[in-house]
Amino acid sequence: MGHVDISTALQRIAAIVGPSGVVAPADAAGLLVDERQLFSGAAALIVRPASVEQCAQVIRTCHEAGLGVVPQGGNTGYCGGATPFDAQRQILLSMARMNHVREIDPIGFTMTAEAGVVLAKAQTAAREQELLFPLSMGSEGSCQLGEVLSTNAGGLAVLRYGTARDLVLGLEVVLPNGDVLSELKGLRKDNTGYDLKALFLGAEGTLGVITAVVLKLFPEPRVRQTAWVAVASVDAACRLLSRARRESGDQVVSAEYISRRSLELVLAHVRGARDPLDSAAPHYVLLELASADEEGVLRDRLERIFSRCTRCRRGRRRRDRGLR
Ligand SMILES: Cc1cc2nc3c(=O)[nH]c(=O)nc-3n(C[C@H](O)[C@H](O)[C@H](O)COP(=O)(O)OP(=O)(O)OC[C@H]3O[C@@H](n4cnc5c(N)ncnc54)[C@H](O)[C@@H]3O)c2cc1C
Repeated sequence: MGHVDISTALQRIAAIVGPSGVVAPADAAGLLVDERQLFSGAAALIVRPASVEQCAQVIRTCHEAGLGVVPQGGNTGYCGGATPFDAQRQILLSMARMNHVREIDPIGFTMTAEAGVVLAKAQTAAREQELLFPLSMGSEGSCQLGEVLSTNAGGLAVLRYGTARDLVLGLEVVLPNGDVLSELKGLRKDNTGYDLKALFLGAEGTLGVITAVVLKLFPEPRVRQTAWVAVASVDAACRLLSRARRESGDQVVSAEYISRRSLELVLAHVRGARDPLDSAAPHYVLLELASADEEGVLRDRLERIFSRCTRCRRGRRRRDRGLR
């Protein structure tokens, strides 16, 4: 139990963020239900701080009054983690107003941005400098940077670039007592002491609220080649991926395994969908390669990978029949 009473604390919090930082009950409905509409909740107050200072003061006041804080980004999470459930003892802290890209360093390949920047906006900001922020997923038009780090989101390009955790160089976090931990550094070869920021990645706000980040950027690939490949078994799909990584010099950006059964569900339920190949196969792989090469070079490389796979298969068959 805190030493400030709750109604005083709520008044203080409203004053800290000002009228434009308090969400009116009429606008709150969408924030109190999760993406899949499995959880609906309630909060004593919903606020949108506009700066790390406001965020810290709000959290310090909650700490003094024993109020719970539920941070929320784009509210696209699948586990109900961003839905508050106590109308008396919890506030909802929306990061939506902390939405500025502070700096892009095209020499050091970094971006410094506030936690409420929508993922698609970060991707666009990088692209404008001919750089790539590779985290990409279906919710990228709504989900926000602080939260993709808090959930350690994976997305489509994990094979090449890792999960959100692997894309972070620095963090700014407000701790549960309102102190600010500022580690907004972009140094890649930082081998000093403990990696404190790692504690907050994937922690879903349990250890603090992320307010800003320094992210790794990469050269933007000039060309992409995508292939839909039929394979005989799951094992063959894994071997194809391994071969593609080796033969391309690790230019595989994404690889998705799709069973015939799941393709049939798509064909049955998605209007306009058609089978990509003339005949059915039990398993498929959707493979994407990206590089800074010319288009023809990457296409040739992809075709060479497949032709070697075919040659291997032929070779193995001949061996099986005792022809070699
Ligand atoms: C169509 C679709 C596709 C998706 N695809 C993927 C995918 O490919 N890979 C994947 O991993 N996920 C995927 N997701 C899930 C979801 O988008 C991610 O988990 C995303 O990271 C959630 O971001 P958000 O801004 O919506 O967070 P929210 O749902 O708002 O919050 C998620 C969690 O983080 C906490 N949190 C929010 N803000 C902060 C903060 N600033 N500091 C600390 N904690 C905070 C919240 O309390 C909550 O526990 C997908 C979702 C949808 C709807």
